Amino acid sequence: MTRTPNAGLLEWETGRFENALDRLELGSGTRCTLRCATRSLRIEIPLIRDNGSTEVFRGFRVQHSLALGPAKGGIRFHPSVGESEVTALARLMTWKTALHELPFGGGKGGVVCDPHRLSQRELHDLTRGYTVAILPIIGPEIDVVAPDIGTSSETMGWLIQAAADAGQPNPAIATGKPLILGGSAFRAASTGVGVTHIALLAAERLAIRAGSQPLRVAIEGFGSVGSWAAREMFDRGEMIVSVSDVTGAIQNEEGIDPHVLIAWMHSGEELVDFPQARRIDHVFAARCEIAIPAAFEGTFTADVAAQVTARLVVEGANGPITPDAEAILAERTITVVPDLLANGGGVISSYWEWVQNHQHTQWAEATERDLTLGRLERSFDRVVEAEATSWRSAALMLAIRRVVDGLHARGTVAN
Ligand code: GLU
Repeated sequence: MTRTPNAGLLEWETGRFENALDRLELGSGTRCTLRCATRSLRIEIPLIRDNGSTEVFRGFRVQHSLALGPAKGGIRFHPSVGESEVTALARLMTWKTALHELPFGGGKGGVVCDPHRLSQRELHDLTRGYTVAILPIIGPEIDVVAPDIGTSSETMGWLIQAAADAGQPNPAIATGKPLILGGSAFRAASTGVGVTHIALLAAERLAIRAGSQPLRVAIEGFGSVGSWAAREMFDRGEMIVSVSDVTGAIQNEEGIDPHVLIAWMHSGEELVDFPQARRIDHVFAARCEIAIPAAFEGTFTADVAAQVTARLVVEGANGPITPDAEAILAERTITVVPDLLANGGGVISSYWEWVQNHQHTQWAEATERDLTLGRLERSFDRVVEAEATSWRSAALMLAIRRVVDGLHARGTVAN
């Protein structure tokens, strides 16, 4: 699937953020400071392709805020990457880390490329080229990178080696890295497991379960977030009624076992051909109580919002629900759990990984899981108890307030 650079995300994230700024009644100096990115780097990376030609790839690293600590955020390899998308995502990371009370700011990076069209050797060299180009502005105490769409722990391993070769050997420059390099055992599962944990807390809070029936869950995206969210839901006794990926959407009203589906896909088959389900036009056409868009920004459009049967929509991806769709959901009294709250398990787990690196130790997976889910729960409680028109608005206001307190404590804003 090819996409053009996504300018929409910056526009609608800005709308939500400006709304929160209005409610907080902040002074103009503070508002200006919060709007700006501290640092934005644009780079060009020449890559020798397998066919002997040279191609130049464009990349970015944006640090939105450093008010509460080093910038923190992933690196995305995707055709839609652009400066405005990366800037919006960096700003979202500022709010996400602040909401979960982590000692980090917000950053994001990306390379405009389709990783599925590059060989392993090309991806390796592109990662090294990108790392060397952004190295002057990243580091364990400046800006800590992580995987995002199109990148993985393997990418982080290559990045760590490129940084080491250039004289920065500390693996705490990246989280989500391989276990052998000081990675965390829970990091890969953390975002998806956290999404499920938050979704079930929200479902309980809203009392949407009918008697002792399992909740029916529809999940868009079956990658590093959706597949873990699905397994956690299933393992906790809920029912996955539909899932989708780039090959299409499938449904089974009696439930899909995500473990069996993963085994099917590992054998080289496509999700859409899974024999224990049938194809449907759209993953959210299935009857469900919980809908989890965990694929990409902007996928949950007004059309989807008008048709979805869920009582609860939980943002597994960053920015999947468009503003039009959100207005329709509000009208239909369907509750939204916003990205910065719902998918915060990933960056919380990254924080524990970074802490372990600083202590030169590695904890048990269960310890990290408990700490991550505990931190998510605390954030959830603060959001639902805050006075606001929606959980998104509450989460944003709590996060922005914390960043503003950081700026004031540093004496960098006066009004
Ligand atoms: N890419 C993830 C996110 O958007 C995780 C970032 C991190 O762990 O630094 O939240």
